[in-house]
Amino acid sequence: MQDTIRESTAAEIDSAVAKAAAASPAWAASDAAARSALLRKLAEGLEAAREQLVALANEETVLGPARLNGELDRTAFQLRAFADAVDAGEPFQAIEDAAVPGAPPAGRPHLLRVNVPLGPVAMFSASNFPFAFSVLGGDTASALAAGCPVVVKAHPAHPRLSRAVHALALEAVQACAAPDGVIGMVEGASKEVGIRLVRHPAIEAVAFTGSFAGGAALQKEVQGRDKPIPFYGELGSINPIVALPAALKEKGPELAKTLAASIALGCGQFCTSPGVLIVLDSEATDSFVRLLAEEMDAQAPHAMLSPTIRTAFDSGVARLVSHTAARRLTRGEQDPGGNPVPNLVEVDIAAFIAHPELRHEIFGPSCLVMKARTVAEAQQALQAVGGSLTATVWGAESGDADARAIVGAAMSMAGRVLFSGVPTGVAVARAQHHGGPWPASTAPQTTSVGLMAMQRFLRPVALQDAPAWLAGNYR
Ligand code: NAP
Repeated sequence: MQDTIRESTAAEIDSAVAKAAAASPAWAASDAAARSALLRKLAEGLEAAREQLVALANEETVLGPARLNGELDRTAFQLRAFADAVDAGEPFQAIEDAAVPGAPPAGRPHLLRVNVPLGPVAMFSASNFPFAFSVLGGDTASALAAGCPVVVKAHPAHPRLSRAVHALALEAVQACAAPDGVIGMVEGASKEVGIRLVRHPAIEAVAFTGSFAGGAALQKEVQGRDKPIPFYGELGSINPIVALPAALKEKGPELAKTLAASIALGCGQFCTSPGVLIVLDSEATDSFVRLLAEEMDAQAPHAMLSPTIRTAFDSGVARLVSHTAARRLTRGEQDPGGNPVPNLVEVDIAAFIAHPELRHEIFGPSCLVMKARTVAEAQQALQAVGGSLTATVWGAESGDADARAIVGAAMSMAGRVLFSGVPTGVAVARAQHHGGPWPASTAPQTTSVGLMAMQRFLRPVALQDAPAWLAGNYR
């Protein structure tokens, strides 16, 4: 589909940002009804064009109609969830301290802490979620809900889908009489398009979902601006799972099956795909690891999103299996259809801690397994990972000292800690957190999934002794 990629010119990028900047005051001043009407119209538009959009997405991503229909549903759900949050007044909430007569520190003026939208947001789509982290995905929905226009940088892996979704977004903007320019889009396969966009002085924040390398490069651009701005980068992750003996004893075979399926799900092209398994040494360890390798060999992943992603996967696996500390456990045979085969490699835990290259994300169905002789070793391995979107701890129910120590280590390095199941699949909810310490994200205190994502695009202003006409707007 390379021939369908268009390169936005410098003038087109500047014009999209200028339109967003022009739309910004009106959209920032819009009320809940206007914002939620647009969000709901966007959800309806996606659903109404489902057949055409899913077919287009499938041509460009080969992710299959079942997954793509599910992702479209998730995207519409997300838009409506933000509409509900706006209707409930979330972006307009304020914190109030009544005036206290007398000298400070006991005495104080009347204070009203309100939120204002940041302004135009540059939004970078990911290749692996053509709906949910793309043109009308979570970043766009949360920015619009906060009162910020967006300029989307479409992903070159699905250009025709991006254009079709943007076209329906423009129809929704018009139908709702929302300000022209509130949802802009630029496109291109060269780095210059994204760089020009984030350097534009009228852009006030950047939301990025993608690779560590891409996120780090764009963050540097943002920091080099005359006026640096917030950069919310959701990057890749290796999502460690720690299996404590109790879990393997109770349901080892079931967990092996579930984990193998999670590693191979969507051909491993998820930011939450499990890339590291740490198994506490016990009687059940060896049979569990053997079973996991067998279950992984039995998986049949589909093709990858693009030849570039496939090449990166193949070279990542080749690098890993040729590492002196690594021993391959899966068969590693060629798939007759040419699709990638799942890869499980065992490494010594000390080598994992000593060699950073063993901790790099391999985007695709690959996992590394380590046996920890002690809880302290498992803790050190988690510490070495540094930052991850998720960490999973199986078998922590007893709450004994080992479980507490591992859970503590997991909470110190992950944005979401799971105690059952697998990390693939991220619920869109109020309590969700999809982020985590570097290198999982560039802003670990923020989330890109769930309703709290809106907070990224709001800036607090404390109004001191505000006149009644102004304070009244926030009560
Ligand atoms: P990607 O290659 O980094 O691309 C993301 C976007 O950034 C594209 O528009 C890309 O444009 C642009 N870009 C990349 N490097 C750039 C640079 N140096 N300068 C300017 N623009 C640049 O990532 P992807 O292929 O879409 O996604 C795969 C990765 O995303 C995986 O690592 C996955 O784990 C991660 N991911 C994370 C999450 C999350 O929520 N944390 C969700 C999904 C995916 P060009 O292609 O034109 O360069």
